[in-house]
Amino acid sequence: MIDLRSDTVTRPTPAMRRAMAEAPVGDDVYGDDPTVRALERRTAELLGKDDAVFMVSGTMTNQVALRVHTESGDEVLADAAAHIAVLERGAPAALSGLTVRGLPGRNGIFSANDVQAALRTPHRFIPSVQPPTKLLCLENTHNVGGGTVWPLDVLGDVVAAGRAAGLAVHLDGARLWNAAIASHIAEAVWARPFDTVSVCFSKGLGAPVGSALAGPREWIARARRFKALFGGGIRQGGIVAAGALWALEHHRARLGEDHARARRLADRLAAIPGIALDVSTVETNIVRFQLRGLSAAAFVDACFSRGVHLLPSGRSGVRAVTHLDLDDADIDRACAVVEEVVAAALPATGATASP
Ligand SMILES: *Cc1c(COP(=O)(O)O)cnc(C)c1O
Repeated sequence: MIDLRSDTVTRPTPAMRRAMAEAPVGDDVYGDDPTVRALERRTAELLGKDDAVFMVSGTMTNQVALRVHTESGDEVLADAAAHIAVLERGAPAALSGLTVRGLPGRNGIFSANDVQAALRTPHRFIPSVQPPTKLLCLENTHNVGGGTVWPLDVLGDVVAAGRAAGLAVHLDGARLWNAAIASHIAEAVWARPFDTVSVCFSKGLGAPVGSALAGPREWIARARRFKALFGGGIRQGGIVAAGALWALEHHRARLGEDHARARRLADRLAAIPGIALDVSTVETNIVRFQLRGLSAAAFVDACFSRGVHLLPSGRSGVRAVTHLDLDDADIDRACAVVEEVVAAALPATGATASP
């Protein structure tokens, strides 16, 4: 099976498994695990922050960050398709009593003007019925947007607009490693304007488990409290942290290979009649495309039965993600299967090659 569903499907490499097996460990709930501490320090260093805290998932680091910056009844601003807003199972409401207001991003990128337009404008004629807006969240790369990298200047303006309104700012950097490679701008530069930054080790980096939240010492101390409160203590966490540390040191630089394979995939798919794909939107390892006259569910089922695993997204959208466990031959094979499936379906569905 050529698995293009996500970059989370990778298996730990033999070297990573060895590092995990041999990791020195201690009880991390007592702060005693040297491997967890090493991972936290290294992550903080790469992100240019005082400290970082290791957690089991990106959802957990994001949700702890929301809890750190807000209180129940507050409002958070984020792109309408942000992972925090729509892909974390309603956690902002369930865990922290928050509402998230969606900003009108273009492939996940919004402007300072969008932030300003969303700010509540109190007036003496209006009683204070609105929820207090406390936090602004950005996502880089943007998942639902198609692996989009923020322009650094736009990101700076957006964060400045949030700060001018007194908001805290959090970056969901689950794939910040990909943004850094694609843009040739270091993670610490991307992270600089933010109070807190979450990163994942289990996406493109290929570790089996783990994320971290980085920020100033006092925010991270507070984050440790909510990590534990949400039930996130990991005793001998060093076993999994060692996989993350291995991934961080050995799999970051190679992300460019995944980006090249995503472009190779996109170029070939874009040439297939019945597929609408703007290759200029493929900046990192995520390829999103639309089917003309063919249902996404039927299409992914047909590809699956021929050994290519893709994800449907809405009625006619499809997502493919490249990663560590795929090579060029897998990409070529996947393209051939998609061609076959589309060719078989086109006459029956009446779709045509014309735009
Ligand atoms: C995957 C992802 C997360 C959360 O990761 P999990 O570890 O699956 O909880 C958060 N944000 C973005 C943008 C992601 O793509």
